Amino acid sequence: MMGMSDCLFCNIMSGKIPGTIVHEDDGVVAFEDVNPQTPVHILIVPRRHIRSLNDLEEVDAGLIGRVHLVAKKIAREKGIAGSGYRLVCNCGPDAGQAVGHIHFHLIGGRPMSWPPG
Ligand code: AMP
Ligand code: ZN
Repeated sequence: MMGMSDCLFCNIMSGKIPGTIVHEDDGVVAFEDVNPQTPVHILIVPRRHIRSLNDLEEVDAGLIGRVHLVAKKIAREKGIAGSGYRLVCNCGPDAGQAVGHIHFHLIGGRPMSWPPG
């Protein structure tokens, strides 16, 4: 079973795998997506190895609030607070979740279509 030691995002957060980190605190880490879909594409990742939105627990409520405050801060720093952005969490196969550690995509810097494909 996939655990924390073989988790890509746990290994980026611990420094075992390189990443371009843009924010770090005791609850979450944010780093550049290696395959950006928009001019700004940051992954905001809770440190706790939670597999997906389906695995969130009541105790994580503050952590998820923190994710949103970090998104707001990074959007301002990257200059897209006014132009607009999305915070997206893909959960499960239909959403295309590829990494089994919950993460939130902060995407922006160009107009985006809706609904998604
Ligand atoms: P998801 O499809 O929502 O699970 O998103 C996974 C994201 O992780 C994709 O946008 C990938 O480009 C990104 N990704 C994969 N490997 C790395 C890596 N080593 N460093 C940063 N981002 C990565
Ligand atoms: Zn993990």
